[in-house]
Amino acid sequence: MYFISTRGGGRVTGAQAIVQGIADDGGLFVPEHFPAVSRGELESMLEMDYAERTAFVLSKYLDDYNADELLEAIRAAYSRFEDDDAAPLVRIDDGVFILELFHGPTCAFKDMALTVLPYLLKKGCEIVGIKENVLVLVATSGDTGKAALEGFKNAEGVKIMTFYPEEGVSKMQKQQMCTTEGNNVNVVAVSGNFDDCQTGVKNIFNSAECKAELHRKGYLLSSANSINFGRLAPQIAYYFSAYCDLASSGQIRMGDLVDFTVPTGNFGNILAAYYAKKMGLPIGKLVCASNRNNVLTSFFDSGVYDCKRPFFKTMSPSMDILVSSNLERLIFEFSGRNAALTAERMTALSAKGKYAVCPEELEAMRENFYAGFASEDDTVECIYEFFMEYGYPMDTHTGVAMHVAQKYAEQQDESAEKSPMVVVSTASPYKFPQDVLYALTGNDVKDSYKGVKRINLLTAMKVPESLKAIRYLPIRFKKTTTPAKMFKEVLDFV
Ligand SMILES: *Cc1c(COP(=O)(O)O)cnc(C)c1O
Repeated sequence: MYFISTRGGGRVTGAQAIVQGIADDGGLFVPEHFPAVSRGELESMLEMDYAERTAFVLSKYLDDYNADELLEAIRAAYSRFEDDDAAPLVRIDDGVFILELFHGPTCAFKDMALTVLPYLLKKGCEIVGIKENVLVLVATSGDTGKAALEGFKNAEGVKIMTFYPEEGVSKMQKQQMCTTEGNNVNVVAVSGNFDDCQTGVKNIFNSAECKAELHRKGYLLSSANSINFGRLAPQIAYYFSAYCDLASSGQIRMGDLVDFTVPTGNFGNILAAYYAKKMGLPIGKLVCASNRNNVLTSFFDSGVYDCKRPFFKTMSPSMDILVSSNLERLIFEFSGRNAALTAERMTALSAKGKYAVCPEELEAMRENFYAGFASEDDTVECIYEFFMEYGYPMDTHTGVAMHVAQKYAEQQDESAEKSPMVVVSTASPYKFPQDVLYALTGNDVKDSYKGVKRINLLTAMKVPESLKAIRYLPIRFKKTTTPAKMFKEVLDFV
């Protein structure tokens, strides 16, 4: 299987795509075609455990990796999760399910891919024949940073550096990142928002000078952000797994359509769902849920992507994004894989902050996607009501998704046959304890761990060991920089 750039550049293998992260022309790597999963193969997945299902999906794309070794690495990655099943599906009510993706080492869905990526990258370097050290640069809205740090800490031949928006992450997220151990890690705050961090990192990637300077120091740049296909691939697997769990528990018959609602920021998670659909998984609607930063809702309404708008800090910080990088891959698909047109639109996006798709493209997208958003009040109310009704505590991102899933259900035709809805839960409520406690009780607490304790008393939900463990660790990283000085920080670090 080969990978091509959304902007028309060269054809590379899976290992190359993962090692390089982003194509030379600034585009994103996409598979040359979507590998099909037949009905028979889907049925055979019913018998597999989660690691096997993931290895099966990954092998379809990454045929330059040894399949047995891949399975072994994936098994090792998911053995670090607190639940035996890395992606358990919880039945809430008739036709309503929650796919819990937060049982990994950092309590957010980023672990699903970032526990596997270090292997994909390391092995990828071996396959491609790279002998240099690798520098992984990460821009984070809070969760990717910690998940990547955990995944890569103490990895041989790798250094990892994470930039996060100074005021844009929860206290718990900051505590998680800044207490990371390991001799190859660095964490720096940036005065700005996530888009500034992401642009800063992208600029380094797109600069031949920066790359040459790092090369002189013996480093090859790579990315752990969701623009890397190695991030996307493991995420495709849990949609297959959720479907298999629905089928094997008798909730659906093989072949029935299932809808998914995904709390969306950079469009990586929901894009993986679309890739699963393209591979043949019977998915009906994909519901794209945004918070107040509802640039994607506007896009799916109007066909115009316009990121020149106010940026809001919300209680779902991992979705506080105005430039959704992975949308480029979707635009590419719906343009009929027109690389020249995609490149033109992306140039317009960086020059004018705006581009538009044609009415036919929009209509085709809307057949696959429904988009909606939740205000801060909607989110709080949804978390509260849901807990009152079902005794199930959700984090703030999942609260956004649930609100939009309910909105979607309400606007559906009464007479239309409804498919089961799986709402994707992307973080543990304990990762955002102050806001979750506020939603559940109306009480404000300053201290994260006071919030954790109260939520635990109220809900009896188990507190993840990894969050308990960092409470008293020393803060190792305290530095703040400006977007313009990010590369200097990188040089200081290597
Ligand atoms: C990253 C993240 C999201 C958004 O996922 P994308 O793939 O960027 O769309 C949603 N919720 C949580 C908790 C996250 O960490």
